[in-house]
Amino acid sequence: MSKINLPLAFETRMKAYLGKEEYEAFSNALDEEVPVAIRYNPFKPIPPLENSGKIPWSSNGVYLNERPVFTLDPLFHAGAYYVQEASSMFLDHILQVLQPAKDGIFLDLSAAPGGKSTLLSSYLGEDGFLVANEVIKARAAVLKENIIKWGLGNTLVTQNDPEHFRDLEGYFDLVLVDAPCSGEGMFRKDPNARSEWSPDHVQLCASRQERIMDQAGALVKAGGLLIYSTCTFNEAENEEMVKFISQEYSYEPVRIPFDQSWGITETVIDSEGEFYFGYRFYPHKVQGEGFFITVFRRPESAPSLQPKKTKEYKHPYITSVGKQESERLQETLSLPDQSVFYNLQDSFFWLDAAFQRGFEFLSRYLNIRYFGVELGKFNKQQFIPNHELAVSRFAKEGFMQYALDKSQALDFLRKEDLELPGIPEGWVLLTYEDQPLGWIKNLGNRSNNYYPKEWRIKMR
Ligand code: SAM
Repeated sequence: MSKINLPLAFETRMKAYLGKEEYEAFSNALDEEVPVAIRYNPFKPIPPLENSGKIPWSSNGVYLNERPVFTLDPLFHAGAYYVQEASSMFLDHILQVLQPAKDGIFLDLSAAPGGKSTLLSSYLGEDGFLVANEVIKARAAVLKENIIKWGLGNTLVTQNDPEHFRDLEGYFDLVLVDAPCSGEGMFRKDPNARSEWSPDHVQLCASRQERIMDQAGALVKAGGLLIYSTCTFNEAENEEMVKFISQEYSYEPVRIPFDQSWGITETVIDSEGEFYFGYRFYPHKVQGEGFFITVFRRPESAPSLQPKKTKEYKHPYITSVGKQESERLQETLSLPDQSVFYNLQDSFFWLDAAFQRGFEFLSRYLNIRYFGVELGKFNKQQFIPNHELAVSRFAKEGFMQYALDKSQALDFLRKEDLELPGIPEGWVLLTYEDQPLGWIKNLGNRSNNYYPKEWRIKMR
């Protein structure tokens, strides 16, 4: 592929910002290989992939020696790890340092394809609840797929414009805005980003970010955290946005301690005499792509929103499940004691009872694409399990299991017919290296492959 030059206006600005000598190192780094990084799913433990070491600011991230063909690794489809650029995993370090309460409700406002949402979901684990939102429909579908594969059941996927959150001011314990940006930090990973860049586009992105932050800044409750990030270098979308946020809303600065050997650059931002902090990632200084992140805390005096419990749950298409049917589900699937169930289009969904009120409140305002774990349905005495249940963190007791080798696992993911000697009759959970991949129903003379057709892999 012929090399696409860096845009001249970008070069001029970066030279002025970094100085001539450092600019050389920066632009040389943009011609180097992109480091490949993954983050393990702590709820789906697997043997380590061949790697060249831990990402210093991440509890579950490692650099890989080389880029494998992820499509041909069944563990990738099982949600055992997520392929994520290393710099953005600094979000994990922020969480580890600040330790926001794990039983809170977090919001990822611009979440697709789900890199940071899966990170937040891992942090919240079995205790917390995440709203992963994406405004663009097709991207929300990818986000949903990645959340389902991650399998923790602690996430509500929504598809809304930030404006639709206006009745939820002061509601969230943490709000992350990983803003749509001009993508200068992607110039190495995606050379096409170079030709799409222009000074006008930077200004357009900055105005859009102001509109988003105008809404997002109000959503954090007293004492909660607001995190803003971009994958770009210019100040208009980074430091200037920090000033905008701090001048629009009352927020306290948060400084994040880190090891100087990591190569991260801290910038100190003077906003009307108050000092805020930003963290810049440059490809010539860290093993990762360009990235910027900043953290604010909402003062204790800010308003918080506490929804009241409603007597009866009313929603145009989601209904709550009665006691008898809930007990039947709980017994059939050996689900946790603290469970609530909902019905949507004939299918049952599981949710942690601790988030019943939060979910029911949020569902009055937001356009829901997925929540908790979709379980399946009863057909007379038989339970018909859904794929979402297969890849969830639940144990799936009571279902037979069958371990596949790699070539069988790939055929299953291609949705092909499988010849599996000695497979029991009925619903069988297929696994690869102990990780569930999906269901097959063996009818004796043939078996049906229930892998979702829209996720099937086409590569050989
Ligand atoms: N957080 C994601 C991750 O880590 O995988 C990446 C998010 S990407 C940088 C920004 C997202 O913002 C895109 O998915 C884009 O569709 C979405 N977006 C675009 N316009 C938006 C708007 N006006 N308000 C909120 N989000 C928007």
